Amino acid sequence: MRVEQEQVVPIEAQLVPGAAGSPVYLADTLPQIVWTADADGRVTYFNRRWYEYTGLDAVGSLGFAFRQALHPGDEERTLARWDRAWRLGEPYEIEYRLFARSTGVYRWFLVRANTVLDESGRVVQWSGTCTDIDDQKRFEEEARRHAAELKASRAELAHLVRHDALTGLPNRLLFTDRLERALAAAERHGRLLAVFFVDLDGFKRINDTLGHEAGDELLKEIARRLTSVVRSSDTVARLGGDEFVVLVPELERPEDAMALARKLLRHAGAAYDLGAQRVRVTASLGVSVYPDDADGASTLLRHADVAMYRAKQSGKNDARFFAPEMNAEAHQRMQIAAQLDGALERGELRLEYQPQFDAVTGRPVSFEALLRWTNPVLGDVPPERFVPIAEDNGVIVEICEWVIDQSCGRAAQWSHAAGASVRVAANVSLVQLDRQDFVPMIADALRRHGLDPRQLELELTARIGGHDVDLACAQMAELARLGVRLTMDEFGTPGSSIDHVMRLPLDAIKIDQQVARDVVADRSPERVLEALVSLAQALEFTVVVSGIETEAQRRQALGLGCDRLQGFLLGRPLTECEADAFVASLLPEATEP
Ligand code: C2E
Ligand code: MG
Repeated sequence: MRVEQEQVVPIEAQLVPGAAGSPVYLADTLPQIVWTADADGRVTYFNRRWYEYTGLDAVGSLGFAFRQALHPGDEERTLARWDRAWRLGEPYEIEYRLFARSTGVYRWFLVRANTVLDESGRVVQWSGTCTDIDDQKRFEEEARRHAAELKASRAELAHLVRHDALTGLPNRLLFTDRLERALAAAERHGRLLAVFFVDLDGFKRINDTLGHEAGDELLKEIARRLTSVVRSSDTVARLGGDEFVVLVPELERPEDAMALARKLLRHAGAAYDLGAQRVRVTASLGVSVYPDDADGASTLLRHADVAMYRAKQSGKNDARFFAPEMNAEAHQRMQIAAQLDGALERGELRLEYQPQFDAVTGRPVSFEALLRWTNPVLGDVPPERFVPIAEDNGVIVEICEWVIDQSCGRAAQWSHAAGASVRVAANVSLVQLDRQDFVPMIADALRRHGLDPRQLELELTARIGGHDVDLACAQMAELARLGVRLTMDEFGTPGSSIDHVMRLPLDAIKIDQQVARDVVADRSPERVLEALVSLAQALEFTVVVSGIETEAQRRQALGLGCDRLQGFLLGRPLTECEADAFVASLLPEATEP
């Protein structure tokens, strides 16, 4: 067929009128457009639907007729198909859009054309139908779009399920999956594999003081830094909160793990710019290595966690390899944490009070409140064992509140009984000082018991690492203004810093004999004590020496000019009843304000 424009011939002129019921009229009842054309492509018939739909009333060649209504976007493809069909005399099927004058829109049609052949096989006539498939097309299109969207959202969902929304890092699920595969590969090839467990030190403080947005920024930056340190074949994942893990699927030697651990800590520990604030955060890290430390994914991960905890315990900002004995320790810790939950409500905690004496007069100056815990399952658990665990899981907050309340109550009661003011010293956890409500809590306890603030002394451990020293200083200054006495406890233990001593508004410094013994193994404890005492004296603090067990130790402390003494030699910690009796036995002038 030739498709170029031809002279328009009115359709009526080409139609042979038929009788009623003839195929011509029957065709008018059909919803499709029906047409016929001669061998040269001249239209010989269009049914009524053509006129109704296209609004065109005159045609020449078939090509001309259709091109008037054909969508420009379908032209090239349609013309090529027509050309081939008419050249070869070949029936065809094609979809294109036709314009409807009445509605002003294009609709899709399926066009089917057939040939009528003579005996010699030559085309003598063409006939065809155009069926409106617009609704079906739209439906198909919609279905395709939905399918594509569904595929995209499935992919998105699959990504979300296996990644951390904040940092974009793999989450626990994907990490475990990769770890399991890596373990299988390591076993096949006899290779070493390492898991690093990284936990930020004092992240909660950042969240509490700078807000959650700053906390989120910090986590994202840490994620970037950790990722930048490792190779692309390694996996950095966020397990939740401030816990990150790194999987190194191929390790040459175990020593390489420590080198990487140090590098990870160094990068995590560099300063962060969070908005206008520049902050420093350290991290603690634990490493476990396959096949030495475990051969299953969950155990390997747990062991890295246990090792990380050990790094935290020994002063934070450090890395530790897993060691089997840590497992027993971790188990015990879990038991203690479980039993500690509700111990206060069950009345398992009590306080003992150890007197502290004036070095010169020998009179009791104050009583240090010391926590005791007797649990039906674990028996007596020393405070050094359970206090750090209570600090970790936050239970210390309510315990400390109870200690302060009890101490204030006792001091008030004893002062009344002795007819003179009696001072009680309570040990304070640094976790407490990280909380904004610390000072109001103390003030409230003092008010409730009608206690003069000077009768309360707080002993603050010297190991400040990982805590907010600025906040501690501010809170301590406020307490000092109230009149509460402040003592730096355990001065000289590893991690205690002279910087903190200078910044905190302290009245006294307490040095433990035992500490002096442990500080430097190959130095004489007497010399160490002497050095610590003279440092404290030079800074003009009241100096307390505790842990005095022998007469020689007492004499040395006296010789050094210490102000106050405490220890088993002078007085063991007393139960409440014993302390009541002891205070009652004191003459009014026997205590100091
Ligand atoms: P600390 O504040 O240095 O308390 C003194 C510890 O030394 C007490 O141990 C006490 O019984 C012990 N001690 C006293 N005199 C001697 C002596 O002559 N020789 C020896 N070897 N030890 C002596 P305790 O009661 O086991 O407390 C251990 C630590 O637990 C305390 O050290 C303190 O840091 C912590 N602690 C105790 N009670 C509390 C509390 O209520 N809150 C907090 N946060 N920590 C507490
Ligand atoms: Mg103490």
